[in-house]
Amino acid sequence: MYYGTRAVVVKSTDYRDADKLVTLFSEKEGKVKAIAKGVKKPGSSLRICVQPFAHSFLYLSRGGELDLITQGRIMDFYADIRENLGKTLYIAYVMELLDKSLLERVPMPFLYKDVLEVLEYIETRGLNFIVIRYFEMRLLIELGYKPELDVCVNCGQKFPVMNMFSLSGGGVLCEKCSEIIKPDFVLSGEALSLLKFLAKSNIRTLERLKASEGALNKIERILEKYLEYYIERKFNTKYIISDLKKSLPLTFDKG
Ligand SMILES: [Zn+2]
Repeated sequence: MYYGTRAVVVKSTDYRDADKLVTLFSEKEGKVKAIAKGVKKPGSSLRICVQPFAHSFLYLSRGGELDLITQGRIMDFYADIRENLGKTLYIAYVMELLDKSLLERVPMPFLYKDVLEVLEYIETRGLNFIVIRYFEMRLLIELGYKPELDVCVNCGQKFPVMNMFSLSGGGVLCEKCSEIIKPDFVLSGEALSLLKFLAKSNIRTLERLKASEGALNKIERILEKYLEYYIERKFNTKYIISDLKKSLPLTFDKG
């Protein structure tokens, strides 16, 4: 059986002879693993379509475990991201998140739209760390792991202001309950507002956001640990990025 779908290439690895094994995040079928035949031969029209994070329209033939890509047309290649190490690394991280968190053949149309928006944003407007945090939050929401940010996860009270965060509890704790459940993070008011903003906003409203470096670092750590806790995987690209940030004077937000 054949089907056509738009898809983003999450991962692409060498496979027998001239073939590649690709993991796709497709609009119609969700995560799918497929073989792209003969793409390493010169002149293959599919070659460009199966590059990491390329966005293509593909025709596939359904197989048992692996589908077969029969034809394709590139829609967005994101040339600007590919020319910039910082952008490439962060998009590689987004792809790793997808690869490790999505179940095969479970369509996620809203998340699919989010991925395209993030790629488009980074390609045309530059690397913005808030956009990466926004994507992490969108992923958690779409996977059903939205952190509770409005009421205490233990007693359900809305006041007084929550300033503790528990990974196992799945959200914020009031002061009283944080004596019963050990919190993993202390939140500043700004960090909490930032998390709430990410959970409610869309990509177009992010540009207006102003945040201190301290609050940004805090929510980066919280989201990182939260993703690891609920997806139960470590994200290697994230560690590569942190190491690079420490050892090289890279300015990820320029260019
Ligand atoms: Zn409480």
